Amino acid sequence: MEAPSPNRRQAGARLLGCLCGSTGPGLAWSALALPGVEPRHRLPRAETLPPLAVALTLDACGGAFDHTLIDTLIQRRVAATVFTTARWLRGNPQGLRTLLAHPTLFELENHGAEHRPALVGATLYGMHGPADLAGVEREINGGAAAITATGQPAPRWFRGAGARYDAASLQLIAQRGLRVAGYSLNADDGATAAAATVERRLLAAQAGDVILAHMNKPAGGTAEGLAAALPALQQRGLQFVRLSQVPPGLALLPAETPAAPARRHNPAG
Ligand SMILES: [Zn+2]
Repeated sequence: MEAPSPNRRQAGARLLGCLCGSTGPGLAWSALALPGVEPRHRLPRAETLPPLAVALTLDACGGAFDHTLIDTLIQRRVAATVFTTARWLRGNPQGLRTLLAHPTLFELENHGAEHRPALVGATLYGMHGPADLAGVEREINGGAAAITATGQPAPRWFRGAGARYDAASLQLIAQRGLRVAGYSLNADDGATAAAATVERRLLAAQAGDVILAHMNKPAGGTAEGLAAALPALQQRGLQFVRLSQVPPGLALLPAETPAAPARRHNPAG
């Protein structure tokens, strides 16, 4: 990773504050020698997907329910895949009801139990990974159990907190029959990006993109930026699909485009 500019450094500090509640005096950008790998993914070509398919994925890490964002998606008939933790589900029963009331638009996938990274013994953006692989398995199983407890199908996709993984965790996720959901376009930096930034990034979306944004921080700029960009994206003919429309057994593809700086920010929230 290139040396961060002062602005990047400040952004990193904001992200840390966002993620762990406190930047703490000992945390600096130099602490962000990021562990693990961060898969960059695009949609594969499949008969089940329209040619101009794009996937909007929304992480619900913890926190609240951005009803403005979800209302916008409902009004515009924009589908999304919601990666939710057990923690978010516990804290947002009304938000869950809203999502479940629109089954043709929203589906739930696995973002873990307590939003701990799939990185054994490592710390990512201030979040501590489990001490052993059994802890990663508890994240996977706890997230899945919370989703099936809502009456929804067992999740088929997994995205760990912070979207980075170590090799053993990737192997475990595959062994559990789950596919890792990376992304190709980071829209909101863990819901810390301003609305204008979210809008600008979304307007760069192309067919095949897997967009990452957040629906757990209503005070952020994500909802406003998304509302501003969606009409143009739909005007261009992009069709929003859910990851369940990717045929079983078909993984996402490595993203072809090199990761632009705007897309390398911490995606977690
Ligand atoms: Zn998250």
